[in-house]
Amino acid sequence: MPDTVLPDDWDARAKRHSFFGFTDLPSIAERGTVVLTRGEGPYVIDTEGRRYLDANSGLWNMIAGFDHPELIATAQAQYARFPGYHAFFGRMADTTVELSETLAEVAPFEDAKVFYTNSGSEANDTMVKMLWFLHAAEGRPQARKILTRGNAYHGVTVVSASMTGKPYNSVFGLPLPGFIHLTCPHFWREGRDGESEAAFTARLAAELEEVIAREGADTIAGFFAEPVQGAGGVIPPSEGYFDAILPVLRAHGIPVIADEVITGFGRTGELWGCESYGFVPDAIISSKALTAGFFPMGAVILGPELSDRMSRAVDAIEEFPHGFTASGHPVGCAIALKAIELVRGGLLDDVRRLTPRFEAGLAKLAAHPHIGEWRGRGLMGALEAVKDKATKTPWDSHLSVSERIANTCTDHGLICRPLGQSIVLCPPFIMTDAQMDEMFDKLGGALDEVFAGLA
Ligand SMILES: *Cc1c(COP(=O)(O)O)cnc(C)c1O
Repeated sequence: MPDTVLPDDWDARAKRHSFFGFTDLPSIAERGTVVLTRGEGPYVIDTEGRRYLDANSGLWNMIAGFDHPELIATAQAQYARFPGYHAFFGRMADTTVELSETLAEVAPFEDAKVFYTNSGSEANDTMVKMLWFLHAAEGRPQARKILTRGNAYHGVTVVSASMTGKPYNSVFGLPLPGFIHLTCPHFWREGRDGESEAAFTARLAAELEEVIAREGADTIAGFFAEPVQGAGGVIPPSEGYFDAILPVLRAHGIPVIADEVITGFGRTGELWGCESYGFVPDAIISSKALTAGFFPMGAVILGPELSDRMSRAVDAIEEFPHGFTASGHPVGCAIALKAIELVRGGLLDDVRRLTPRFEAGLAKLAAHPHIGEWRGRGLMGALEAVKDKATKTPWDSHLSVSERIANTCTDHGLICRPLGQSIVLCPPFIMTDAQMDEMFDKLGGALDEVFAGLA
């Protein structure tokens, strides 16, 4: 370390030997980094002793806050009893068996079977490999194409980045061939002039039919969708969307995978996002809130039909040659069991209790002349900044409006996230009414300050 970097200069130390993901470097060069040391409920505290209300639950995952005593005690107890094991070669920790039983109980299917990963990206990758594996075992090796939507976020590994519908992946030469992105079901932005929401939804169902006809149904391995798109900017689907597209997929025998990495475990006001939209997928991808963010873990949860087909395929080939060293880690599983108990034992009720206050706060700020729309479901929401509300004209992107708003919030002790031109809020379920009011007061102040500066 050069001697210009002092031990208490955490900003310089962070920049010197650590890479940040998804970070705009000019902005941290100008503003510095934030290095955090601990948390208290929904607050995080940095090395300078500054407190921030984290309106994004970390990265959507810390639903029980940053110091939940039961989750900490559970982790400590599991570390003391059995601190690590894998799930290969027919061996697995008892805690892992228990978590699978619990996931099967809470999953929206009759029966379920679980495969563990360390992240949501890996869970999506695993699901794609399972689909390729089982289609091949069933004599359809050509069924490899994957359908997702524009603005979808499914992760960053090569396959999950290919599924992600964001232009930034072109710097990697992604998506891979055979990953097809349908229109994002965001009516406010994607709807045409004079088009009703019902007509928009019908247009997307027709587009799906056309894509399937063009590509050939027998070449398609599966369709993946977030019930509410998260990192795309919190985009609930247009009215009737899943009711319109699911019959099309079903008619062609295309498996439907719900990426519930954000929406799983209560975020939308039901245990699963698919329940909020009244559908049952063929499989669920889970991560993030699965362990309330206290352990890196993901899971593929197969419904009865796919688990039967997968089991038959595995029987035929005698092995599913896939798995991660830490798949089904007993500490992660113990934490997940506790997190699920907390969600069912009160946190889900908290989401339902807080949602009207959250929606009212968003609606109030959406009255601002430079907020084009608010949207959301349960405790995930977004405000979209616009230059002109009537024409929905966005700000020039070089003005970095949402980044300015988020930076102003940070200066006032609130962490929220800029995504495109929107500001995303995804508060921990343990927030009090007063903390929620603090969140909206600070965000409202930042909107006034930033838009006044641009006027
Ligand atoms: C975060 C996220 C992922 C990726 O999970 P990681 O743990 O970051 O790999 C996948 N899908 C959705 C919907 C996500 O929000």
